[in-house]
Amino acid sequence: MFQIIIKAARKSLRDVNYSRSNSISSVKIKASELALKLSSDILTSSEAESRQQLSEALLDELSDSAGIDVVEVAIADQNQIHRRKGTRIIMKKYGSYQPSSRTIKISNRTAARGQILAPKSFLDTLLHEWVHHYDTYKLKINSIHSKGFYERLNDLKSKLQIPKKSN
Ligand SMILES: [Zn+2]
Repeated sequence: MFQIIIKAARKSLRDVNYSRSNSISSVKIKASELALKLSSDILTSSEAESRQQLSEALLDELSDSAGIDVVEVAIADQNQIHRRKGTRIIMKKYGSYQPSSRTIKISNRTAARGQILAPKSFLDTLLHEWVHHYDTYKLKINSIHSKGFYERLNDLKSKLQIPKKSN
């Protein structure tokens, strides 16, 4: 009986989290001139070192604007973590966000060939991970990939005036 109650309570917490995550379709930030400049600079960047600096500066701007703690960024000049099955890549990790240490990690090279990530993929990954940070510290929810999550990400991209078409 007790277990059933706990299970039900857990389920309803999950439901509350899900509906909150799903119901918010925009991010409460104002994209500053600097933020616009930094994201357009990222779209012409390539090396891990310059991406590191631009990303730090951009995410500082965004977090300031959202009124939340800044997030650490680590851009590694290495291939994306991936798993193969034979010659086929069955999993690759674009980036990660660790809520407890407030850290975003991104690998700057593709899984298979180790090529530098296309600027658009890099920026998409960076902003995706930042929305996890926003969810965690601004919305105070467990950040999940709900439809609302992707709406917030799209809202952020349009505020930063990022072209929709990939390069
Ligand atoms: Zn994610």
